[in-house]
Amino acid sequence: DYELLRVKNLKKYYPIHGGFFKRKIGDVKAVDRISLTLKKGETFGLVGESGCGKSTAGRTILRLTNVTDGEIIFDNQDITRLRGRKLREVRRHFQMVFQDPYASLNPKMMVGHIVDEPIRNYSSNNHRDIRPKVKQLLNKVGLREEDYYKYPHEFSGGQRQRIGIARALALNPKLIVADEPVSALDVSIQSQVLNLLKDIQEEFDLTYLFIAHDLSVVKHMSDRIGVMYLGNLVEVATKQDMYKNPMHPYTQALTSAIPNPNPLRRKERIILKGDVPSPQHPPSGCVFHTRCPMAMEACKKVVPELKEVRPNHQVACLLYDR
Ligand code: SF4
Ligand code: MG
Repeated sequence: DYELLRVKNLKKYYPIHGGFFKRKIGDVKAVDRISLTLKKGETFGLVGESGCGKSTAGRTILRLTNVTDGEIIFDNQDITRLRGRKLREVRRHFQMVFQDPYASLNPKMMVGHIVDEPIRNYSSNNHRDIRPKVKQLLNKVGLREEDYYKYPHEFSGGQRQRIGIARALALNPKLIVADEPVSALDVSIQSQVLNLLKDIQEEFDLTYLFIAHDLSVVKHMSDRIGVMYLGNLVEVATKQDMYKNPMHPYTQALTSAIPNPNPLRRKERIILKGDVPSPQHPPSGCVFHTRCPMAMEACKKVVPELKEVRPNHQVACLLYDR
């Protein structure tokens, strides 16, 4: 299994300025030391409640923003601090599919020109040179060649997401970060778009980082899953293991909320107390200790490391530190 991406101790902090002199008064720790790897061709689902840092993690990994600390190795190249032309060169292998297909499509542009824009950004081709390729892409995502000449407002939400996907494919990327790509769509349309993403994954040999707040969407899509809480990656496991044997108390609470049609396997729902603390003032020790039903005295002081506790199953929790 070729390792396409390795992220090590990645941090993304946003400085906060305040007071009369607008001095720096702190940091929002949006992403705090996460480590993960993506194997070529796999789908890694990144799950967590809104504000947990999963979108920021995706954007930082694709180097759409600067890295505060840590390391990103893509295709055997350290891209953590790339800038300028070198960054632009590596970014052609990345694409993002966004939650709101409408907001990410220019309403004044013809669909064909929206889709061919990434190609024109990286070459001297004009629209006419690449029209056949773009029409072919529209076919691949289930649209018609005539749709080339239409405008975004003429399409439904699901079709707009197909346009966004065609655009993402235009440069034959290696890695796609799909940030809640179906959350804005009707439930009836969601599985169609998810199936499309699966189909093109095989055909185009794509690796996905699939971001969602909804465990059931991730379950459908992912080979492995990572769970984030307050900027931290707290558990990583294969899909099967994550649902059958969640080990982190936070993941146990999340999975207990998924309805199980089988009454014998139904677990009691775990309700977490309190709200997610602010990422500007994360709790000391384990960031989950203020809400954890299993918290111990040590959890207030010791920061748990993400460690392999079973084969292919990593957890950041002191319960598993013997
Ligand atoms: Fe809960 Fe402590 Fe484990 Fe954190 S380290 S999840 S507070 S038991
Ligand atoms: Mg988000």
